Amino acid sequence: MTQAMDAFVAGLPKAELHLHIEGTLERSLREELARRNGIAPPQVPPFHDLTSFLVGYYASMQVLVTEHDFYDLAMAYFRKARSQHVVQRRSSSTRRRTRAAVSRSRRSSRGWTGRAPTRQPSSG
Ligand SMILES: [Zn+2]
Repeated sequence: MTQAMDAFVAGLPKAELHLHIEGTLERSLREELARRNGIAPPQVPPFHDLTSFLVGYYASMQVLVTEHDFYDLAMAYFRKARSQHVVQRRSSSTRRRTRAAVSRSRRSSRGWTGRAPTRQPSSG
């Protein structure tokens, strides 16, 4: 693409049709949360298939321990979405999943359990 086309596309309003808030975790925040929670930063190699993706995904989730971590994750996503002109989001299942994850972390004395989330039949 040309620079003019890049600028045009960057300025277009966009819709986020589906996301899992945990999937928005970027390396810099992952490292910050690991430091804050006294956890060794997880090693997350590039993925090449579903199995290697899930290994990295669940390793990354270890840094999400407290409600504050989820707050910071959500705010980082909102800032990025705003910078990319995302004007519409479908996030009801994300809110439910985030509340469930926070509840799990509160129930566990060690914080985030690292278990895979239970799949809800009505969400994707
Ligand atoms: Zn999904």
